[in-house]
Amino acid sequence: MSDIAATIADLKNLLGERLNTSRAVLDLHGANEAYFPLTPPDAVAFAKNTQEVSDIVKVCAKYNCPIVPWGVGTSLEGHALAVKGGVTINLSEMDKIVQIYQEDLLAVVQPGITREVLNEELRATGLFFPVDPGANATIGGMTATRASGTTAVRYGTMKENVLALEVVLADGRIIHTGTRAKKSSAGYDLTHLMVGSEGTLGIITEVTLRLQGQPEAIAAAVCDFEDIESAVNTVITAVQMGVPMARMELLDTLSMQALNQYSHLGLPEKPHLFMEFHGSTASVAEQSEIMKELAADMGGGDFQWSTKTEDRNKLWHARHTAFFATKALKPGFDGMSTDVCVPISKLAEAITETAKDAADNGMFAPILGHVGDGNYHTLFLTDPNKPEELAMAQKLAHRMNTRAIEMGGTVTGEHGIGMGKMKYMAEEHGAAWSVMADIKRTLDPQNVMNPGKVVQIN
Ligand SMILES: Cc1cc2nc3c(=O)[nH]c(=O)nc-3n(C[C@H](O)[C@H](O)[C@H](O)COP(=O)(O)OP(=O)(O)OC[C@H]3O[C@@H](n4cnc5c(N)ncnc54)[C@H](O)[C@@H]3O)c2cc1C
Repeated sequence: MSDIAATIADLKNLLGERLNTSRAVLDLHGANEAYFPLTPPDAVAFAKNTQEVSDIVKVCAKYNCPIVPWGVGTSLEGHALAVKGGVTINLSEMDKIVQIYQEDLLAVVQPGITREVLNEELRATGLFFPVDPGANATIGGMTATRASGTTAVRYGTMKENVLALEVVLADGRIIHTGTRAKKSSAGYDLTHLMVGSEGTLGIITEVTLRLQGQPEAIAAAVCDFEDIESAVNTVITAVQMGVPMARMELLDTLSMQALNQYSHLGLPEKPHLFMEFHGSTASVAEQSEIMKELAADMGGGDFQWSTKTEDRNKLWHARHTAFFATKALKPGFDGMSTDVCVPISKLAEAITETAKDAADNGMFAPILGHVGDGNYHTLFLTDPNKPEELAMAQKLAHRMNTRAIEMGGTVTGEHGIGMGKMKYMAEEHGAAWSVMADIKRTLDPQNVMNPGKVVQIN
């Protein structure tokens, strides 16, 4: 049994004003971008440093009180909702760059810094951090969800871009995992156990990130297609040929309507590929020409490419606001976003079947995705006054998930498990899911760290 009142009293002594129990702040930390109902915690603690996180965790552990780490709350499967009540630890005040190791292409940062702020701060160094989910998420949240974005096809996900961590465990111990060395064979890989653990194993208080040098040249390209299948087949061929793309995004017709309205792109309302190439001036020109030929072979339409920064920024800004652009097509509707990832050879079949399923059932469900990785998303937009629409969206999302597993893929390429996808864990992982529960029991025997997510232990 947890003792919330005693936890709050002790935390008030520890944090003073930075322990907040006002209705507005609790509700802010009980809201989400998905379809889950408001689920506020009992209190929100605003931590300032690692020692304080450890002290908060020790108080919570003493009274068996659930602890939910909070970045900026953009996760899409109810990850950061306090389903068992307790204390949400907001890490947004731990938002500093601790050190930049320019010659090693590394940065050590606190978890509350957002990816956009990090990149603004890095601008003068000529380096950048490539992982770019559609929301301006925190590095702590991105690490905890093993996030990725449009550039994963070239630079990888958080898995490839986190070298080392500082973590506060469920008993308050502060540990350091990994080093600044590029590789290591020293023992169990605790860094990558924590990456993607969604706050269920510990609280990440410092992250060592790989950085990239700004490429000499960047070209962005767009091409329209008559149907999704031709666009996807172009991608599959490019991946199989080893074209070194930096971004390869699919947008279906509904997504293009949304982007035209929201970001005034003025592009044909047909399925599109948005692409980017990084390298020397000669190599980006060569990559663009190869893609142009491949697209033409698959029946692609007008292929436009440009090395102008303003063209590129406009295109990717539009892509990054796609979630809100598509939601704006149906004002007042709820959005349920789901992502899956399949082997590249199955991508065309997976997307075509999902699109057919939505059309056959009269659902408004734009599809877009980081298709260079085999990863795509469907945003089901449903009328809140028609619960049957949400039920249908959940049914179709279920088919999308089981199809991905049957095809040898995963129910989530990047959004993560949270609560929404726990029901698929046994099917995707088999007995390995119970091994995850064993790890959880070992590191968090009281089940205080973000309980009710990822694993089932009771
Ligand atoms: C418009 C939109 C577009 C998106 N596009 C993408 C996309 O392209 N790719 C993608 O991967 N995701 C995407 N997402 C999902 C979301 O942005 C990511 O899951 C992101 O990584 C969450 O970061 P956050 O800072 O908001 O974390 P939160 O939502 O606050 O937390 C996420 C999870 O991490 C835990 N957590 C947070 N901080 C810590 C910490 N310091 N230590 C331990 N655990 C912690 C929380 O408890 C929770 O379980 C999108 C979301 C939206 C709304």
